Amino acid sequence: MNDLGKGTTTMSSSASKVYPPSPEFVADANATKEMYDRAEADPLEFWAEQARRLDWETPFGDVLDSSDAPFFKWFIGGKLNVAYNCVDRHVAAGKGDRVAIHWVGEPGDSRDITYSQLKDEVSQAANYFASIGLQTGDRVAIYMPMVPEAIISMLACARLGLTHSVVFAGFSSAALRSRIDDAEAKMVITTDGQYRRGKPAPLKEAVDEAVGTGADAAPSIEKVLVVRRTNHDPNLNWVEGRDVWWDDTVGEASPNHEPESFDAEHPLFLLYTSGTTGKPKGIVHSSGGYLTQASYTFHNVFDHKEGRDVFWCGADIGWVTGHTYLVYGPLSNGATEIIYEGTPNTPNEHRHFEVIEKYGVTTYYIAPTLIRTFMKWGREIPDAHDLSSLRLLGSVGEPINPEAWRWYNEVIGGGRCPIVDTWWQTETGGIMISPLPGVTETKPGSAMRPLPGISANVVDDNGNAVADGEQGYLVLDKPWPGMLRGIWGDDARFKETYWSRFAEQGWYFAGDGARYDEDHALWVLGRVDDVMNVSGHRISTSEVESALVSHSAVAEAAVIGAADETTGQGIVAFVILMEGTENSGDALIAELRNQVATDISPIAKPREINIVPELPKTRSGKIMRRLLKDVAEGRELGDTSTLVDPSVFEAIRARQS
Ligand code: ATP
Ligand code: MG
Repeated sequence: MNDLGKGTTTMSSSASKVYPPSPEFVADANATKEMYDRAEADPLEFWAEQARRLDWETPFGDVLDSSDAPFFKWFIGGKLNVAYNCVDRHVAAGKGDRVAIHWVGEPGDSRDITYSQLKDEVSQAANYFASIGLQTGDRVAIYMPMVPEAIISMLACARLGLTHSVVFAGFSSAALRSRIDDAEAKMVITTDGQYRRGKPAPLKEAVDEAVGTGADAAPSIEKVLVVRRTNHDPNLNWVEGRDVWWDDTVGEASPNHEPESFDAEHPLFLLYTSGTTGKPKGIVHSSGGYLTQASYTFHNVFDHKEGRDVFWCGADIGWVTGHTYLVYGPLSNGATEIIYEGTPNTPNEHRHFEVIEKYGVTTYYIAPTLIRTFMKWGREIPDAHDLSSLRLLGSVGEPINPEAWRWYNEVIGGGRCPIVDTWWQTETGGIMISPLPGVTETKPGSAMRPLPGISANVVDDNGNAVADGEQGYLVLDKPWPGMLRGIWGDDARFKETYWSRFAEQGWYFAGDGARYDEDHALWVLGRVDDVMNVSGHRISTSEVESALVSHSAVAEAAVIGAADETTGQGIVAFVILMEGTENSGDALIAELRNQVATDISPIAKPREINIVPELPKTRSGKIMRRLLKDVAEGRELGDTSTLVDPSVFEAIRARQS
C-alpha cells in the first residue's frame, strides 16, 4: 500500500454502545487510570518500576540505551535468571504448594503441578542439559505437543541461558528442519507421539525425517530427547547415541540446581512468525526486557489476583501467545493456570466449558476464530455449563468482529466480564494495545488504546498523524522493553521490515492498518496489505468480513482484494455458513452483498462471494489471505509451510464459481 488516500469506509459499529466496567470490578482492579499519566510523564522511570517486579541478581543501571538504534538495549548491566523468576522465587516466598499448572490431557488424564514440583523438574532438566555439554547461548529446538515437559523444557533452557526455539508440533518435518538449520540448534526435544482429535499420531517420526541421517543429517543436531506420551509404537525408530528418553535421562537427574544469572539482553528465545505475510522470520527476544513486559502486562491486562485466579490461555506454546501468556507472564506472577493438550471438540464440543466449570477458571483468553467456531456450534453448548467462575475474557490474534465480541460478552461472559481485546505481535513480545479492565470503557471490536508506557500512532505515508476517523499505518513511535532484538542472523531484513518505512523518524512499522474513531478509540484494521483499493476507495478487509459475519447465515468470512482491470482491485469473499444453514445459492449471495452495502457502503459490495467448507488458516488460527489472493488471481500458491491443512484449497477451488 503506497497511497493511503481518504478513508472511505465508516464502520457503523464504531459509534456503538460503550461497555463500562462494573463498580465492583473498578473497586478491586490492579490497573488504575493514573498509570497512564505516570507513564507519560516519565516512561523510562515507569518501565524501571515495572522491571522491579522481577528479582535481579545485579540491578540495572540505565533503563534504555538507544545509541545503536534500532538495536535498542534495555536495563543496562542488569542480570537475572528468567527461570528463577518464574519458579524458584515463588517457592522461596513460601508458595511452593500452590498449583502452577493444572494440566489436562486430551484423552482425559490430568496432572496438577505445584511450584515446588515445577522447580524440581526444571532443575532436573537443567542438570541433564548441562551434563551433555550444552552451553549458554546454544540453541535448542522444542517440537512438542502441549505436555508439561514442553514448559519444563523452555524453563530449563532459560535457567541455563540456552536460547529456545519452539516449533509448533503440527508443522511438517520440512518446516522443522528449516528452523533447526536456521538456528543451528544442537538438540531437539520431542515426544514419541501426540494426541490429535482422540487418536495418537506419530511425532518422533517427523523429527527423524527432519533431522535425517548420513549425508542428509542436520549438521548442528547432537541429541534428540524424547518424552514418552502416546506409547503408540513399540518399534519406534531409535538412533543410538543421538536419541534418548526423557525418563532415562532427565528423570534420573538431580532436582537440585543452582541458577546462574544472565545479562538482561541475553537472548531468551527465537520464535518464527506465523507467516501470514511471507516467509517466517526468526524473531529474537531478550531476557530482562521481555520478562518485564510479560510480567507487567499479565498483572494489569488480566487483572491477575494471586492465589485466587485460575487463568486459561487457549493458545499453543508454538506461537508467541503461548510463550508470553502460558509460560513467562503467568509463571513470573505466581499464577495458577490451565494447560490443555487437545482440540476444543475432543471428545465433543463441550470440552472447554467442562474445563472452565471443573477448575473454576476465572480468566479466559482465546482467539476470535475460536469464538466464531463456538458461535457456529451454537449457544446451547456453553449454556449447558456453569460458567459463573469467569470474571474476565480476552481476545487475541485478529481483529474481533463486533458480532463475535457481543456474543462472547453475553454467552460466555454472562454480560458481567470485561473483555480485553489485545493487539500485539510476535515482534512486540507482549500486549501493546488493549483496554485495562476496571479502567477502560470498551467498544466491541476496538483494542481501545496503548497500554501505559506504550506509544502508538496512526500516520500517513509521510508520517503525519491522520485525523480521527481516517485510516493510516499503525506505528510504535517509542521503544518498549519487550521489543524484538532482531531477526535471527538477518540484521538487514530486520531493518528493512520494521525500521525502513519511517527510518527518518525512527519508528517501528507494525505492518497493520488502523484508525482512531471520533472518540480516539483505536481500531486495528488488519494487515496493510489487506487494505483494498477499489476504484480509489480504501476499504479494509476486516470491515467487510465483519459485515458478512453479522448476517445470521455466516459463521466466518475471509475477504481479499483481487486484481481487477476496471476497478484496480475487486472484493472477493470466501464464507463459511453456520451449522445447519441451508445454502440457497444466488438468493443468499444477493442478501450478503446487500448486507455489506447497508453496513458499509455499496462500493464495498463484494464482486464475488464463494461459499466454502473451510478457510485456510495458520496454526495460530489466522486466515491466510495472501493464499486466497493467489487462488482468486489464479496464481500458484505461495509458501504454505505454516498452513494447518493445505488440502482446503482443493475444496475452495472446487467451489469457486
Ligand atoms: P507474519 O508476521 O509472519 O506475517 P503474523 O503477523 O500473522 O505472521 P503474529 O505475530 O502472531 O504473526 O501476528 C501478529 C498480527 O496479528 C498483528 O500484526 C495483527 O495483524 C494481528 N493481531 C493480533 N492481535 C490482534 C488484535 N487484537 N486485533 C487486531 N489484530 C490483531
Ligand atoms: Mg507479523
